[in-house]
Amino acid sequence: MEVAVKLKDIKNKLEDACRRAGRNPEDIKIIAVTKYVSTERAIEAVGAGILDLGENRDEGLLKKWEVLRDKPVWHFIGSLQTRKVKNIIDKVQYIHSLDRLSLAEEINKRAKNPIKCFVQVNVSGEESKHGMQPEDVINFIEELAPLKNVVVDGLMTMAPNTDNENILRNCFKTLKNLQKDIQKCQFTHAPCRELSMGMSNDYSIAAEEGATMVRIGTALVGEED
Ligand SMILES: *Cc1c(COP(=O)(O)O)cnc(C)c1O
Repeated sequence: MEVAVKLKDIKNKLEDACRRAGRNPEDIKIIAVTKYVSTERAIEAVGAGILDLGENRDEGLLKKWEVLRDKPVWHFIGSLQTRKVKNIIDKVQYIHSLDRLSLAEEINKRAKNPIKCFVQVNVSGEESKHGMQPEDVINFIEELAPLKNVVVDGLMTMAPNTDNENILRNCFKTLKNLQKDIQKCQFTHAPCRELSMGMSNDYSIAAEEGATMVRIGTALVGEED
């Protein structure tokens, strides 16, 4: 199926979710995750009206960036090795996977201007998941204050791979509550405006619980190669 058709369906579902939650659909950005697909499919997504693309590896990002350049906004969504920061830093506007001080220091050192970063939080506590424990996040953000090129613009989480709606909902609620706690601190370097949560199988629930960015791969661009 064409990306444009899938996009329309996803937008409808997000609108339904927003109606249920009393939210404005315009407050949710759809990031097309193109990590499983070709550059051609990424071009098709941009042609269908997608403004934001997400990649989780530097190779995939560079390959597609060469062709699409500054047309879309680029999001780095995968776990990021410190030594790879220099490869992507002047190509992305957002990094969704900030999870340790050494990574923040490298971003700060390599960036020529402030980069919007999301602290990745391991809400579910699954060992296989990257991210910080929720209780460590505020201390971590305090440590970032001297790093002028690191702006904590939000929080990101990956929910567990389950169809259990309660588990998913609780995961997203926990991230939302953590965002509120951070906003109460009024850190100038951490406005924490955004919540990056929700993927192909849980974006409606994430939207109901306050997501401002959903990262959708399979349901939007498929998984061709
Ligand atoms: C792959 C990936 C996604 C998209 O996953 P789908 O289930 O295909 O929508 C979202 N976020 C991250 C961090 C990913 O690695």
